[in-house]
Amino acid sequence: MLQLRDVSKAYRTGSFTQVALDAVSVCLRDNEFVAVLGPSGSGKTTLLNMLSTVDRPSSGTLRFDGQNIGQLDDQALTALRLHQIGVIFQSFNLIPVISALENVMLPLQLQGVAHDQAAARAQTLLDEVGVGQHADRRPDKLSGGQRQRVAIARALVTNPKAVIADEPTANLDSENTKRIIELMSHLNKEHQVTFIFSTHDPLLIDVAERRIQLRDGAIVQTKGRHGCC
Ligand code: ADP
Ligand code: MG
Repeated sequence: MLQLRDVSKAYRTGSFTQVALDAVSVCLRDNEFVAVLGPSGSGKTTLLNMLSTVDRPSSGTLRFDGQNIGQLDDQALTALRLHQIGVIFQSFNLIPVISALENVMLPLQLQGVAHDQAAARAQTLLDEVGVGQHADRRPDKLSGGQRQRVAIARALVTNPKAVIADEPTANLDSENTKRIIELMSHLNKEHQVTFIFSTHDPLLIDVAERRIQLRDGAIVQTKGRHGCC
């Protein structure tokens, strides 16, 4: 479904160039549940940003359902994300001046869903991730773990085909970690949502059916079902 081939990403800061990803190839099939592992600075966030089309590669190709999407303009990529890909950022990226409910409603409203319908669906998702009772609070009135769950609800509200999540359980206590892992597994098994996530969490690593290990911007090991690249 999502395919990166020989993707490199370099960041330039003044005269210094940091190669964050070095000719990485990854192939995600429909309905996979994949963990990206590696020490801090190994390129996990950069890899996920390439897959979610939030950032563009310096070189290499990116395909979604067979279509080369590397050439699409920003507007077309935004539309692709809005309808097909849910993104959970490490820093949440919630909008501070609106409530949790309104944050989760936003992707639906951008799709043109009517207000009441969007509100009802957003509330259902907030209930499902366990923060339904805080729907009217702004992000700054929520704990880190609660913000994390609002960000998860926002990524899932459009029923995306794939969810790309950067350390989705990093801010959660063990009870909420278990709950989110169960929710992700349920969506994967019962609703065929593909997940790829970075994590250091043993519980989440344990349930992954494939593990991609990064070091210094390159894949050093893939465990589990073999990729198709
Ligand atoms: P991880 O998520 O595994 O901690 P990252 O993908 O964030 O790793 O970073 C990989 C490498 O790229 C690191 O050396 C990091 O410092 C560098 N890097 C990431 N983003 C930027 C950026 N916007 N500008 C410059 N360097 C960056
Ligand atoms: Mg990171």
